[in-house]
Amino acid sequence: MSRKDWKNIFILLGSLSEKHKDVLISLVGLSVFTAVRPFITVVLTGMLVDAVYAGVDSGLLLRYVAVGVTGTFLMQAAEGVLVMFFNRKLEYMQEIQGQPLNRKSMAMDYEYLENVDVHETRQRLERLGGWSLMARVLSVVKKILREGVTVIAAVFVVVPMFIRGSHSLSHGFVGSWLMSVLLLAAVLLLIMVEFRFGNYFNKKMADARKEMSGQEARYKYYLEILSGCERQKDLRTCKQQKLYEREFEDIARGIKKTIDRIAGFTVRDAFTQQSVSAFSGFLVYVFAGLLACAGLISIGGVVTYAASILLFTESVGKLVYQLSWLGGNAGLAKDYIDYMGLPQRKHEGTIPVEKRRDDRFSVEFSHVSFKYPGSEKYVIRDLNLQFEIGEKMAIVGRNGSGKTTFIKLLCRLYDVTEGSIKVNGIDIRKYDYAQYCDLFAVVFQDFQVFDFPLGENVAAGGEVDEERAVDALERAGVGERYHTLPGGLSTCIGKEFEESGVTFSGGEKQKIAIARAIYKNAPFVIMDEPTAALDPESECEVYAGFDKMVGKKTAIYISHRLASCRFCQDILVFDEGKVVQRGRHEELERQEGLYKELWNAQAQYYA
Ligand code: ADP
Repeated sequence: MSRKDWKNIFILLGSLSEKHKDVLISLVGLSVFTAVRPFITVVLTGMLVDAVYAGVDSGLLLRYVAVGVTGTFLMQAAEGVLVMFFNRKLEYMQEIQGQPLNRKSMAMDYEYLENVDVHETRQRLERLGGWSLMARVLSVVKKILREGVTVIAAVFVVVPMFIRGSHSLSHGFVGSWLMSVLLLAAVLLLIMVEFRFGNYFNKKMADARKEMSGQEARYKYYLEILSGCERQKDLRTCKQQKLYEREFEDIARGIKKTIDRIAGFTVRDAFTQQSVSAFSGFLVYVFAGLLACAGLISIGGVVTYAASILLFTESVGKLVYQLSWLGGNAGLAKDYIDYMGLPQRKHEGTIPVEKRRDDRFSVEFSHVSFKYPGSEKYVIRDLNLQFEIGEKMAIVGRNGSGKTTFIKLLCRLYDVTEGSIKVNGIDIRKYDYAQYCDLFAVVFQDFQVFDFPLGENVAAGGEVDEERAVDALERAGVGERYHTLPGGLSTCIGKEFEESGVTFSGGEKQKIAIARAIYKNAPFVIMDEPTAALDPESECEVYAGFDKMVGKKTAIYISHRLASCRFCQDILVFDEGKVVQRGRHEELERQEGLYKELWNAQAQYYA
């Protein structure tokens, strides 16, 4: 295990101590108690044998026993309390394993959420066989401490025995120390062999698990496909079952192979451990017998000596194993630290956003170019435009022309690669991020409505203002449906968590997402294909009511249906990341250019 790996483990434990010092303290206490307790029995047994051999009176013997039993009992009781406390905490940490990661996901720069490597790291961290990394590391550190204390305690018991033995030796047995050194050298050699093997096997197992996490991600994806009714529709109508079954079996075969490999390493690892421990035991017993024959230790000492050395070797074996686990999995600690350390640059701005009663905000894109991280292709190129509050702006263009990216830049989900975006003359990167986000109410194409009560969905986590929520639902065109709901705003969306929940259609959900944007009452309302899930009648309704819906706010609105954009005073035509035309519908329709081309093409289908 390299120094860097150790550093990562300490950083991980350090982050834990910030909030859970009590867990670390109980962990240390628990390790010391469990390690020391067996030695009370070992030392006491030796003393008892010697006392019996020397023929001491039964009163003294009874006192020995009483002290030993009481000491063991008290230690066991303290251990029991600590175990209960520690395990309870550990279990809780295990249950809420995703929470620190989730908090980070909410805070990190958005671009990392779309990054494949970051996504895979997150998946790896989630797939620790149901354990949170922190709980796992804690449990391993507890074992390491316990075995470490056992090793030290064994040395404390055995070394004084030797010192006493050497002094009492009358005929000068010079080989006693030499033999002890040889025994220790032999045991250490065995330990090193075990360490190397343990390290090797653990590394192999960790690599195999890493590989399996990729296989499991695919497996989960196919499980979802095959278990959900949504995707089964496509499967059945397009007769794709065979394709998926083949893929599924392929993955299952891969996973089985990896599991077999892991099992193979586990067996070989266990075999090495057992062999080392058996051989060490053999050496220790032979050596203890020799020492007793030479008169170096007493008869009782043989018991204490052999048991202590065996505890010592067993603990070193376990220590090696746990250390190699830590070494093999230090990569995960690094993953965790890297993930938790992903930048939150968007939170660096400090300027408060001016609160304007008149909602007058001007927006200026100045020579803005943008390429996605890790991509060489510019998807927005030297974009220059201005717009004022109160305008209704539509963005049209072919798929992939950069319309959604434009919105992502405006909302600061991504920062521009070149140029700048200014709101009221100030670069948006300088604004306080949370306040800046408050300026926008966005309905994305892939909007999300959660399986929570309707009111909470509309109020998006804030206090639910009933009057405002109902008004927003009505303005979004879902008022009629709302009034039929038995539980009103408390009605749960979907039946996943509440049997009394109500299933809404895709179009209704889209309207609820629109209601959420209206409820937010932000100066800018942005809708990215807001009517894709709506039937033509509902679509008409949304457009007819659009003015009423957004009032005097600035509305930016993306649609692939050009006819829907006619009501906007300002239409921007995007092509390959540039605005190639801008104007009112009547002007653009007459001009030669992309708008006319798209308009004529669509007219054929929508006529
Ligand atoms: P539109 O909304 O006009 O359909 P987008 O803005 O979604 O277009 O996409 C513009 C271009 O950027 C497309 O070529 C698309 O493939 C690419 N793109 C979109 N999102 C990402 C991403 N997260 N990473 C890399 N490229 C992306």
